[in-house]
Amino acid sequence: MRSPIPDYLAEACGAVEPDGSGAPADYIPELAAADPERLGVAFAMVDGAVYAAGDVDQAFSIQSISKPFAYALALADRGFGAVLDRIGVEPSGEAFNEISLEPGTGRPLNPMINAGAIATHALTGTERMGPGARLQRVIEGLSAFAGRTLETDESVYTSEMAHAHRNFAIAHMLRTHDILTEDPETVVEGYTRQCSVLVTVRDLAVMAATLANNGVHPVSGQRVVPGPVVRQVLSVMSTCGMYDAAGDWATQVGIPAKSGVAGGLIGSLPGQVGIATFSPRLDSHGNSVRGVSLFERLSSDMGLHLMEVPAPARAVVRGTRVVGTGAAAGRVVELQGAIRFAGAERFVREIVSIAPSERGVALELTHVHSIDDVARRMLLEVVRRLTLDGHEVYLVDPEAVVPDPDPGDGGRVVTVHTVEEFVHRRGG
Ligand code: GLN
Repeated sequence: MRSPIPDYLAEACGAVEPDGSGAPADYIPELAAADPERLGVAFAMVDGAVYAAGDVDQAFSIQSISKPFAYALALADRGFGAVLDRIGVEPSGEAFNEISLEPGTGRPLNPMINAGAIATHALTGTERMGPGARLQRVIEGLSAFAGRTLETDESVYTSEMAHAHRNFAIAHMLRTHDILTEDPETVVEGYTRQCSVLVTVRDLAVMAATLANNGVHPVSGQRVVPGPVVRQVLSVMSTCGMYDAAGDWATQVGIPAKSGVAGGLIGSLPGQVGIATFSPRLDSHGNSVRGVSLFERLSSDMGLHLMEVPAPARAVVRGTRVVGTGAAAGRVVELQGAIRFAGAERFVREIVSIAPSERGVALELTHVHSIDDVARRMLLEVVRRLTLDGHEVYLVDPEAVVPDPDPGDGGRVVTVHTVEEFVHRRGG
């Protein structure tokens, strides 16, 4: 059988293809020369599977889509404090190249507008790095997100530099406020080279998937940035990634995203998929017209809106049963899926309402594939309270989803591999 997913993507491309509205960016002459008919889309799943349709191997410059990745590198390299001192996280509601800084501090409002992105570039790498080494760090970092060595496009770079007056103005303002401490023009050069990195739709989908996969490259398994950095980056993408169209995007599409003036657009849906589109004609916000339409379509067809999530909680308690007989009878409570706060609450409520009369209680975790920190603590607190109530508590946990369980004061728990082992140990 052939997978229906690439066919669906081709169909989605076909549906938006006739839309000829908008125009390629013209403030960078080299971009104005792009073939406006190009159109491509790709899905990269968090386990590395990639589906694509249209012009997916066409290279174009990453432009502003480099911003969230450079922000991730800066956070990873310098730590949150150093970066947040200089760049805010508030949506500006303004155009990407607005010359606006926070009154008083001179901090750019967020790292997705040019002011914040220029400041971000200077915060990548170590403090003592020269401009060459810093650019190298950024290109290597972007390459690590993509899983292959990326290169810059000198003609796009030269073309943008010849018209980069606004970015120079912004950088000089940043220098005035000591947000930049080095030569502002050199920083703009580095930032502009960062924007000229060549990518394909396929690369962008994989880069977005690395974010969706909590910072671990889906194919190589390499950790590119730490988990807390990803949380910060996706949060900022979801509030500021689409500039002055961020509110429309959040309601219509609901996927943390970032656009670039060369016509690229990425979306990163945590735990599920990285998505990328390419189509050079832009709307008045500087976002790709057909890219935005494609995302609206994909989000609604595939149910990808971040606020539309199933209720995994209800399914966490798969069932409960009594095993063994007589004094050896034990209660098994079987859990499943990915357990977080709401799922753990269901489990706690279930145990409270069952109030097991059997002495032995087994919490079966065989079909649990992940349990976050708070859910683990709640589960262990249940173990502790059951022990204090006189129960003998077992975890059936063959895959060690709760390694080294420590239920704390007065709690006791024995880990076994199977329910049979639980029955056996209790003399059944
Ligand atoms: N290099 C571009 C600029 O600074 C990036 C802007 C964008 O993609 N929105 O103007």
